[in-house]
Amino acid sequence: MKLLKLRNWTQPIRRQVCIVDNRETNFANYGMIVDTSGVYFHNEGPHILAGYSPPDEPPGYHFNYDGEPFFLNEIWPRMYARMSAMERLRHVTGWAGLYEVSPDRSAIVGRADPTKRIYEAHSFSGRGVMQSYGAGQALADLIANGKYSTFDATALSRARFDRNEQVREELHI
Ligand SMILES: Cc1cc2nc3c(=O)[nH]c(=O)nc-3n(C[C@H](O)[C@H](O)[C@H](O)COP(=O)(O)OP(=O)(O)OC[C@H]3O[C@@H](n4cnc5c(N)ncnc54)[C@H](O)[C@@H]3O)c2cc1C
Repeated sequence: MKLLKLRNWTQPIRRQVCIVDNRETNFANYGMIVDTSGVYFHNEGPHILAGYSPPDEPPGYHFNYDGEPFFLNEIWPRMYARMSAMERLRHVTGWAGLYEVSPDRSAIVGRADPTKRIYEAHSFSGRGVMQSYGAGQALADLIANGKYSTFDATALSRARFDRNEQVREELHI
């Protein structure tokens, strides 16, 4: 059997997530808030979950969580700059994971090789849960019918990088 060799465009970028305590604010009605600083946050049980990836951190398989110093240096100043009600935030706990980030921070979805029936959906760059329904529906159509119908994911094909094209979502940082 001949292996299909594909270029890897994707890099692992550590995303650290802090659980913080703030009795004065309840984001239950607001879903997930993505701040222009790059920090995102939402209610998490009785606490708030806030995540961030410093843009100057090099890619790599780093799974360690930097703990309270990360909260104090990266999360708290950005949340306090957005809302004075965040002044008395307290660090509770946290963890780290890897975003699978493509060159334009958008997913790679479609036929991996136009001559073969091999399909791919990955490199969601931090939005794989939110985009899973659309990606699954699009690929199901492509596999079953040979073309997109419900969602047209043509723009997300890996071929865009060979053409030096990018698909950027302006609010996604
Ligand atoms: C800290 C953090 C916070 C995030 N927050 C959000 C969020 O709020 N909203 C959102 O939409 N997305 C979020 N994401 C991104 C989201 O989790 C991913 O985009 C999504 O999980 C990708 O799904 P996937 O199925 O493509 O890959 P994965 O979830 O990585 O699943 C791939 C699976 O394949 C398995 N696997 C790998 N290699 C092999 C192999 N050779 N053989 C067999 N099995 C294998 C792996 O073990 C894994 O279970 C976050 C990610 C991180 C790290």
